[in-house]
Amino acid sequence: NRRIVLAQRPVGAPDADTLRLETSDVPAPGAGEMLLRTEYLSLDPYMRGRMNDAKSYAEPVKIGEEMTGQVVAQVVTSNIEKFQPGDYVLAGSGWQDYAISDGSMVINLGENPQNPSWSLGVLGMPGYTAYAGLLKIGEPKPGETVVVAAASGPVGATVGQIAKIKGCRAVGIAGGAEKCAHVVENLGFDVCIDHNADDFAQQLAAACPDGIDVYFENVGGKVLYGVLPLLNPFARMPVCGVVAWYNLTGLPDGPDMAPAVMGAILRNKVKVQGFIIFDSFGPETYKEFVDDMTGWLKEGKVQYKEQVVDGLENAPSAFNDLLVGKSFGKMVVKVGTA
Ligand code: NDP
Repeated sequence: NRRIVLAQRPVGAPDADTLRLETSDVPAPGAGEMLLRTEYLSLDPYMRGRMNDAKSYAEPVKIGEEMTGQVVAQVVTSNIEKFQPGDYVLAGSGWQDYAISDGSMVINLGENPQNPSWSLGVLGMPGYTAYAGLLKIGEPKPGETVVVAAASGPVGATVGQIAKIKGCRAVGIAGGAEKCAHVVENLGFDVCIDHNADDFAQQLAAACPDGIDVYFENVGGKVLYGVLPLLNPFARMPVCGVVAWYNLTGLPDGPDMAPAVMGAILRNKVKVQGFIIFDSFGPETYKEFVDDMTGWLKEGKVQYKEQVVDGLENAPSAFNDLLVGKSFGKMVVKVGTA
């Protein structure tokens, strides 16, 4: 059994000393327990926060403990009635080959789910984040302009596609020509701007001739500063993430932007609301998401791209890639061989 543990807390970007691969015997399940074998491990930006020893909405990972993470696993042996060997499950068992579970907080996906790894993406946490954040906080109306960055990633891609379904103009922002082409050609956004362009702010302004009604905040940084002057009166800003700043160890150099940010919010009467997906919305919203998203995928109205990395041992470097935009699509690690 291999597991990847937090060896030391990173200062800035995680490096070779941050995580360590350990091996041990495969554990045996006791009464009321089952043994899970990880098939796919989800890599998500929030994991960077778990490496810090700082107060947040969730406990940090302890030194020497395996990294947390959602997985799709297969039940190997089970002493729990409602889980049978061979069943696929969605569990929070982290960066390891095998895990013991008592079945709590585990969702049974059945013996033969169609795309098991999608439960980590478009049909799971990131998809639900996009759906609930956009529709319940962003409240987009037909004809409005919705802007989202990290537009080729699982949250941003879903935000823009739902915006189109709701009759909005969808403006994506992504890193590089290849991602931008995918966002427009395959995902159906109206336009996508490369945030690496020198004239990014001008290009964004040109892409939003009627201003911005909903800015779904995924990244922060210069994207946020480009958006501010374009916000319309009564714009909405669901604050989902600020990945551009996750590796910061202190305040960045440069001018204090707080007056510009707060001034734009004040003058335009912008509604800004942060949210954490697992405790910000009720079970009715989750049910609406599952119903709508299942239908949209079936009808081909939502497209989904994954980047599958082979082997648990490659998870640490893949995770670093994810934080700096070297991933393309939802990043999952193929751990098992089944
Ligand atoms: P992605 O797979 O899209 O990965 C993050 C992407 O962010 C990178 O691929 C990169 O895309 C982009 N990025 C990184 N640095 C910068 C930068 N400096 N400027 C602009 N873009 C940058 O991530 P997810 O879709 O999984 O998550 C998107 C956001 O949603 C994250 O902030 C995440 O933390 C947040 N989130 C929040 C949740 C909540 O409950 N609040 C739940 C789930 C996710 P590119 O190359 O295109 O720039």
